[in-house]
Amino acid sequence: MQGKIFWLGHASIRIEADTVIYIDPWKVKGEPRADLILISHAHHDHFSPGDIKKLRKKDTVIVGPADCISQLKGDVRTMAPGDAITVGAVKIEAVPAYNPHKPYHPQANRWLGFILTVEGKRIYFAGDTDLIPEMKGIRVDIAILPVGGTYTMTAAEAAQAAALIHPEVAIPIHCGDIVGTMEDAKEFHRLTPVPVEVKTPS
Ligand code: ZN
Ligand code: ZN
Repeated sequence: MQGKIFWLGHASIRIEADTVIYIDPWKVKGEPRADLILISHAHHDHFSPGDIKKLRKKDTVIVGPADCISQLKGDVRTMAPGDAITVGAVKIEAVPAYNPHKPYHPQANRWLGFILTVEGKRIYFAGDTDLIPEMKGIRVDIAILPVGGTYTMTAAEAAQAAALIHPEVAIPIHCGDIVGTMEDAKEFHRLTPVPVEVKTPS
């Protein structure tokens, strides 16, 4: 893939390929504008209408779960776990993301992780999730995993998830802001049996 993946801090990602894709944009600067915005779930640090407004162009497509998308107008697409759609050159698969034993992200909310196929590479953005059985079936080149604990996997749990998924490279997020620290990213790196890229927020 010629495209680059930028970590914008917390759970916010920008992928710059032929298409400019943001996932869960939060505290963004506003440039470059988005061709495609993906929202994983309704928590304020993931679904931020103010950040979406900064990034949105006339033809930006916004994808997310029903409870978020119903609050937006324009070219919006609702997805539930198991759905797959194609937007431009990007294939989007929606996968489950939830906490089996904690109250923060109930499975019944049908909130999302995503697998994107961009320039032939499969990129998994896990969303706010614990280590869940569905991860066993995920085959991707790049796995972007939450490691900060409390609301999501801890570094150790995320390392187990990476061992299951076995991507070419794993990228830790959901640390260094509201929850978790950069020490969690380093701990994830230390524990993970696949190559890890600890990104600096940009
Ligand atoms: Zn959340
Ligand atoms: Zn979160």
